[in-house]
Amino acid sequence: MTPKVARFLADTQPATPCLVLDVDRVEANYRALREALPLAHVYYAVKANPAAPILERLVGLGSSFDAASAEEIQYCLDAGAAPARISFGNTIKKVSAIRRAFSQGVDLFAFDSDEELEKLASNAPGSRVYCRILVENAGADWPLSRKFGTTLEHASALMLRAATLGLDPYGLSFHVGSQQTDTASYEAAIGRVAMLFTDLKNAGLELRMCNLGGGFPTQYRDDVPGIDRFGHAIMGAMTKHFGNALPEMLVEPGRFLVADAGAVQAEVVLVSRRGLPDGGSDPVRWVYLDIGRFGGLAETEGEAIKYRIATDHDGGETGPVAIAGPTCDGADILYEKSNYRLPLQLASGERITLLSTGAYVTTYASQRFNGFAPLSEHYI
Ligand SMILES: *Cc1c(COP(=O)(O)O)cnc(C)c1O
Repeated sequence: MTPKVARFLADTQPATPCLVLDVDRVEANYRALREALPLAHVYYAVKANPAAPILERLVGLGSSFDAASAEEIQYCLDAGAAPARISFGNTIKKVSAIRRAFSQGVDLFAFDSDEELEKLASNAPGSRVYCRILVENAGADWPLSRKFGTTLEHASALMLRAATLGLDPYGLSFHVGSQQTDTASYEAAIGRVAMLFTDLKNAGLELRMCNLGGGFPTQYRDDVPGIDRFGHAIMGAMTKHFGNALPEMLVEPGRFLVADAGAVQAEVVLVSRRGLPDGGSDPVRWVYLDIGRFGGLAETEGEAIKYRIATDHDGGETGPVAIAGPTCDGADILYEKSNYRLPLQLASGERITLLSTGAYVTTYASQRFNGFAPLSEHYI
């Protein structure tokens, strides 16, 4: 948690659950990424956190934006982004959204199917398009594979077809999966992109852009490689495969820019011990918070994202716990199998803080499931 967030929490004691996010940290992360990959244009993946103070700060820094819907495009425009700095990066778009984006001046679109390409040709004629290819998501804590992207063979045919449909066949994209902890996954994906660049060049089509997607990790419970390691691996692979003929490079960071800028403060609603029906093993200590899977912590599904948790008793003796949310849904468990430990002194009514929760939290909060209000947000 940044000092500014800590001070705000101490001084304000805001009602819980709430997210407090330090926009200066977003700027610092943006600058660190630019330094690690100076040749890449940054397209912030708006879905990670679309709050206006974040978008406005990034507009001021010269960032571009990866938007997934007409609404996200509107958020960017409202924050002052030029349409030329917005990529409509969802491969699954409503026709009405394509038309609206095109009329607003957006001219960069992702696709990965013949059907979507036809929609783009009819509703955003002449636009720059890029095809998303399937790549391995091994090493990612929150994989995205299979739902998106297509094979190299199909992508090749699609790009050739894009030209015949009057679109501008601009480049290729991939996404190695979110919270990707292995730099080699980018290297392998770049190798695949480069093969397709070569094949298409031989077929008479020169692509100009490689979109490396997002995936850059933030530190949760486990250590991850620093952004400089990713920058180094990516530039090494780009020069290995493209030599001096580097295409324009795009990156679409979401999590990396915003996650560690934010912290969620929650209240411990109940600490109790409960055994199993067979009475066999020792009772488990359960800690119930006023935020859970439906209050925004959706990425604890499958215990995939493991947030660090800070308490007022840190340093004291700890014991194993299961951690759950406040709703009456049996799926509303954050961690049961990931060996979480919390201080033995922790008691109901106390506050705890979930660290690095600035990404993929506010937008995942449900609308009053069990009557609980959506997470409140403070941008400082
Ligand atoms: C979600 C998403 C991103 C951002 O991913 P992170 O892992 O948060 O960096 C980037 N590009 C696309 C197309 C996405 O869907």
